[in-house]
Amino acid sequence: MGTLDADFAGETVVVTGGSSGIGRAVANGFGDAGATVINADVRAAPKDVDAETPTHEAIESRGGTAAFVETDVSDPDQIESVIEAAREFGGIDVMVNNAGVHRSAEFLDVTPEEFDSVHGVNLRGAFFGTQLAAKDMIDRGVEGSIVNTSSTTAERAEWDHSHYAATKGGVQMLTRSAALELDGHGIRVNAVAPGPIATEIREGWAEEADAIDGSDGLPSRAGTPADLRDAYLYLASEGANYVTGETVWVDGGASL
Ligand code: NAD
Repeated sequence: MGTLDADFAGETVVVTGGSSGIGRAVANGFGDAGATVINADVRAAPKDVDAETPTHEAIESRGGTAAFVETDVSDPDQIESVIEAAREFGGIDVMVNNAGVHRSAEFLDVTPEEFDSVHGVNLRGAFFGTQLAAKDMIDRGVEGSIVNTSSTTAERAEWDHSHYAATKGGVQMLTRSAALELDGHGIRVNAVAPGPIATEIREGWAEEADAIDGSDGLPSRAGTPADLRDAYLYLASEGANYVTGETVWVDGGASL
């Protein structure tokens, strides 16, 4: 069984949160498929990958073209700066709104400050990432593609996840609503919903995820960022030209 053999040569792809975890794997995937990749992240190398090569340098070391733009996606002005940076490479063809944060708290304990910090990145970031990328595509007459990172928590309640899950439910409806309104411009909007993926999104999560063994049902193991790569490439590709407003669940069966 091979992996997806996608060709994004000549295309410019922005991946938010591309310094770590899922975003890093996706950015590398687009880079290996020939795209110019811009990683828009608050930091080039988060604590878990300090010892590694920053994403853009890793892509460049394999002969690709890549850049890093320090970006806080909760600030639409900073997203505009990424879009301007992308114009130097011909402008965005694919926008991946992936940056995310997770805080655990019981529903009754969530404070307005915690609510805002999670929503600012996960939902506001994805919302204006989608809107501003679409405006830029429309201005340039480009029929592009947008892929947002949702989560199984968008449709399945989990203890301690209420404010996070609310953002991901929002990402689901943002994806469908934007798909509806942007279709006439030739812009497709889809989402990928990962299940438990061993990353550093919150302290101790990589270890917790690694301990998943199927004893509570599916999934039988935690996923890895590499397990997500092809779903993003597929949704962004011409092969998915009749797919919009859709969510692809890459969760080892967790949502069953
Ligand atoms: P991660 O922590 O490894 O990566 C998240 C990246 O987002 C980091 O590089 C971080 O620096 C960046 N980021 C955080 N705040 C930002 C901001 N304000 N602006 C720009 N970048 C910012 O975590 P991950 O697991 O790879 O998460 C990626 C996405 O996948 C998130 O949207 C997350 O909600 C989603 N997700 C993860 C899982 C999982 O189990 N890991 C499951 C479902 C969904």
